[in-house]
Amino acid sequence: MNTVTRPRILVVGAGFAGVGCVRRLERKLTPDEADVTLVTPYAYQLYLPLLPQVASGVLTPQSIAVSLRRSKKYRTRIIPGGAIGVDLKSKVCVIRTITDDVVDERYDYIVLAPGSVTRTFDIPGLTEHAFGMKTLAEAAYIRDHVIAQLDLADASDDPAERAARLQFVVVGGGYAGTETAACLQRLTHAAVQRYPRLDPNLIKWHLIDIAPKLMPELGDKLGRSAQEILRRRGIDVSLGVSIDKAGAEEVTFTDGRVVPTHTLIWTAGVVASPLIATLGAETVRGRLAVTAEMALPGHDGVFALGDAAAVPDKAKSEENAICPPTAQHAMRQGTVVADNVIAALRNEPLLPYVHKDLGLVVDLGGKDAVSKPLGIELRGVLAQAVARGYHWSALRTNVAKTRVMTNWLLNAVAGDDFVRTGFQSRKAARLKDFEFTNEYLTPEQVRAQVEGK
Ligand SMILES: Cc1cc2nc3c(=O)[nH]c(=O)nc-3n(C[C@H](O)[C@H](O)[C@H](O)COP(=O)(O)OP(=O)(O)OC[C@H]3O[C@@H](n4cnc5c(N)ncnc54)[C@H](O)[C@@H]3O)c2cc1C
Repeated sequence: MNTVTRPRILVVGAGFAGVGCVRRLERKLTPDEADVTLVTPYAYQLYLPLLPQVASGVLTPQSIAVSLRRSKKYRTRIIPGGAIGVDLKSKVCVIRTITDDVVDERYDYIVLAPGSVTRTFDIPGLTEHAFGMKTLAEAAYIRDHVIAQLDLADASDDPAERAARLQFVVVGGGYAGTETAACLQRLTHAAVQRYPRLDPNLIKWHLIDIAPKLMPELGDKLGRSAQEILRRRGIDVSLGVSIDKAGAEEVTFTDGRVVPTHTLIWTAGVVASPLIATLGAETVRGRLAVTAEMALPGHDGVFALGDAAAVPDKAKSEENAICPPTAQHAMRQGTVVADNVIAALRNEPLLPYVHKDLGLVVDLGGKDAVSKPLGIELRGVLAQAVARGYHWSALRTNVAKTRVMTNWLLNAVAGDDFVRTGFQSRKAARLKDFEFTNEYLTPEQVRAQVEGK
């Protein structure tokens, strides 16, 4: 078989969008029609919406890391590494492999699905002291860190140190931040029972957001219900407030409060992967500007989707509406983009992406949840059943479904465990160390690399 003559399809990123695309290409294309290659730093697709449950120990990390090599039918060639630049002119993607080799990968069609990274601001101390909640490593690290604070507070006789170690700050009142604060507060609340020397009243969680409402997508009534649940649990919710500066042992809020703490979790939104900026193409708030068919105008064979792309939201009546960065859209866009790559390959017309949002589910841990499926407002156990049912059915493989369900049952029967593994405990844990945001090239560096300078 002559591999050189077959068109080369390169998919960047093995998230909801990238894996959705690859699996569809494998199903719809014959092996002789095209070579499909996937660039990904990890050997799994991460089910991000359940990350707060990994941080709180309800789920094991493996249960939400869906293997990319589960079936013999998965014939895509996988390059273990990250794309650090794309040269649209010469159709080359520059990749840094996991062994730090830099290689050029040529393509005829490229699908850009590298997702997003944590959005930060120019706040003193933020990038040095805050943890994110975007990767499996961060979730595992935060879990260990939080349990370590209880251990250290327990061992200390200094009241000031105890108080600081038992205060926790989460910034970001979207679903990621709210679920993180809610799930971790449950963990510390349950764990403290095993520390007879610690006063449970010293444990204090703060959830802050500069916006006037928590999760505005939920609407006023449901948003207030979520806030009420958090308040009842003792989480201090402050709206219209952000961070002025962050240090190793305290955080200063914009309302002047200085909170002694060793734990700042930053979940104040996401921005498109820095890979997008290496293209030097038009963006909409950092996301690559693409058509409703997810194609890059003026560049044949270039597609982008998911959190990294500004895909027009054709289901909305407003002009210029773009799809929000959610898994719900990314996974569906993956299927449509694969069909469009195949259509481009076969000289057939491309199809626009249209999907009406199904709503939002927010799991606050235990029996607490709020959900708004198809506009119906739900609270409590019913909302929890819908939230878990939705996530469970969206998991890609039966093995992942079984692992998650078993973990939920085990947690319901046996309760939480509070084991600290010591995972990376002596290493710096900055956002850029987890999300590799400073690995990317500038458009000029990409050109120089491709031209062999
Ligand atoms: C805590 C949390 C909770 C969430 N809850 C929900 C929810 O309840 N409902 C919902 O719809 N959405 C939720 N989301 C949002 C949702 O997870 C994202 O919108 C979705 O993951 C986007 O899919 P994607 O494929 O674009 O990106 P991702 O799923 O993030 O995948 C991107 C992939 O690309 C890889 N990658 C990154 N850079 C490169 C590179 N340079 N080269 C190669 N590969 C690269 C990454 O490792 C990753 O595997 C949540 C997000 C978080 C963080």
